[in-house]
Order: sequence, then C-alpha cells, then structure tokens
Amino acid sequence: MEIWERLSRLTPEADLDREAGEDEAAKRPMRAGPISWVTAGGKKMPILKALLTSACERNCAYCPFRAGRDFRRETFKPHEMAAQIELMTRRGFIRGVLLSSGIAGGSLATQDRLLKTAAMLRRDGYTGYIHLKLMPGAEQEQILEAMRLADRVSVNLEAPGEEYLSRLAPQKQFWGELMGTLTKAAKIKENLPPQRYGRERWPSLVTQFVVGAASETDRDLISWSVRLLREAAVKRVYYSAFRPIINTPLEGKAAERPERVHRLYRAFFLLRDYGFSVDELFPQNAASLPADDPKEWWAKTHLAQAPVEVNTAPPEMLMRIPGIGPVRAAAIVQARKETTIRSLTQLRKLGIPVSKAAPFILLDGRRPPHQETLW
Ligand code: SF4
Repeated sequence: MEIWERLSRLTPEADLDREAGEDEAAKRPMRAGPISWVTAGGKKMPILKALLTSACERNCAYCPFRAGRDFRRETFKPHEMAAQIELMTRRGFIRGVLLSSGIAGGSLATQDRLLKTAAMLRRDGYTGYIHLKLMPGAEQEQILEAMRLADRVSVNLEAPGEEYLSRLAPQKQFWGELMGTLTKAAKIKENLPPQRYGRERWPSLVTQFVVGAASETDRDLISWSVRLLREAAVKRVYYSAFRPIINTPLEGKAAERPERVHRLYRAFFLLRDYGFSVDELFPQNAASLPADDPKEWWAKTHLAQAPVEVNTAPPEMLMRIPGIGPVRAAAIVQARKETTIRSLTQLRKLGIPVSKAAPFILLDGRRPPHQETLW
C-alpha cells in the first residue's frame, strides 16, 4: 500500500486530483492511482505512468513539480522502479509503463537513470510496452539507447515555438534542447537500420503540447503539428488541456476547455489521415478552428452546394464526407464494384451514418432525402 501511494504521488495527474477534489477526480474513469488505460499498438492496455522523481530543478510555469513549489517529493531509484514494474506486471496490474522524470542533477544524468531502469527491465526479460521520455538536450548515444529499449519515445515540445515556450518554461531551449533532441531521434529513424541494433523496427516518436497555457492559437498548434509530422517523423501529437495548479505562476489562469482539445485532435487526424491541408480547416485568415467539428464545417462550406457522387468519387473524396473514414470509404468502393448505390438503405448496410452524410452526397445523380440543417 505504501508503494502504491508513493507511485501515485509520482503521477502528474495526482496533483490535479488533489486540487480538483474527489468528485472531479472520480469523473476520470480511465485512471486508478498510478495506472492509466492507454491505446498502444492499436490495443487498450493498463500502464504504469510514473516519474522516477518528482524533484525538479527547472521551473516550468504550468507544472506541479516545478522547483521551489512546496509539496512532498518522491523519488525511486532505477532498481526500485524496475522491481515495482516487474511485480505489477507479474500480478497482472499493468502491461506497460510510461516512464519520465523530473530533472535532478541535469538532463543527462536524469536520462541515464531512465535508461538504466529500462535496461534493467529488458535485461530481466521484461517484454511489456515501454514508453520512455527523452530529456531536453539528451545526447545522441542516449537517444539511440532509448530507441533500442523502448516501444515509443517522446520529447514534449509543450508549446508551438520558441516565443510561446519562453512564457511557459523559461529554462527550456526550444530549438537546442527540444527540437534538437526530436530531430536527432528522427534522424536515427531515417538513417540507421534498426536491425543493426537488435530491433525489427524503431519505436514511434510522439510529442505533446500544453493547450491554453501560453495564449497560443489553434493555427499555431496545428501548423506546428503538420510540420512535425512531415519533417520530424512524429507519429502523433498529443494535446493536453492546461489546468491551473495552485502555487504556480499560472494558478489564476482559466483551465482550457475540453472542446478545444477535442477539435484539435479532430483536425490533427484530418491532416494526418484524410489528406486535408491546414488552410482547408480554418476559415480564411482565422486563427481558431471553427466551432463546429472541422470536417463538418468543411463539408458545409464546400460540399453542400457541390455534393459528391458516391458511385464514382475516388476514396480520398469519399473520406471528406462527414461520417465516412478510410474503412467506410473502402467498403463503398468494394460495394460499387457489384452494384450501383441508389439508396440510403444501401449505405446504411455498409455502416455509413446516413444522417451525417446525406446532405453532401449524390446517389446515382440524385440527392437523397435528408433533413435540412440550419447553418
Ligand atoms: S522540467 Fe518537467 S518536471 Fe521539471 S518543471 Fe518542467 S515540466 Fe515539470
């Protein structure tokens, strides 16, 4: 029990729970103490999400673990953390671990402790999922070692660009420490064969932005996300809604709305998987995403007067219709090899939510019946 409490104190959300009170904390069903449910490799699994230490010598304005903040700090040595992970795995509590750390004794020494923990696990035959954080300014050899050991590595950029980051984390260097580390990891993926390092493939590379802490715009976040997808081989960008923490410089700032974060994720997936460009998702010259779902907004402004013929449109155009993604577009393409799609009933049988799609399509040259929406 004592270990459970110590580990719970090393979970970033623990501080939020304390301040939110039990009622709000109880509304977060996907987490129990230090264990969270995450999707990794397409499967949902329970993972231990913990820091090696909540002591930190840096002073990021949004962070509960910032230097000088008065609360009870906790530290695990690498062998203690590795032993707990193995024990929790044997007992079936977890199937993976997301391991990070406050910075104590410099980034490089901190990275070494994280690597030591992961290396001990692998040496003992641990085959579970490991997500390792790369510390700001980690060296090439450390990054390579992390990529040899982990299934996923991440560098949290926290803010879209140097100016925003300086408001949030004045001791972090956006280009040298954060982008530099991310770029080194991307170059390893691009230039070195994983087989030479005992891997079938390199781990995925992800990053995170804190949303709403630096008054950054949606366009800033989305433009940077696209840049990271294209130039740094980042597989996924996470958007974490800012929440004020007492006794930090941002304690008086309002928490970010979950709807904004939801829209950012929708926009990110449209850019990554559906072929949209940044400018297509924003009204002209606007800095914020539209209040509607971004794909519905695009369809209303582009397809309402120019509906898509379901029987002839290429898959990439079908995927622009609300309610149709890659799987449903493929189902339509398959079905129309055998028949002409003339009714909403046929579409419904393919799993298409017809009330969403109907205002934007033609079925064999005719608009299907649909409820007009006031927009
Ligand atoms: S370096 Fe990490 S742990 Fe330390 S204050 Fe900044 S965000 Fe928090």
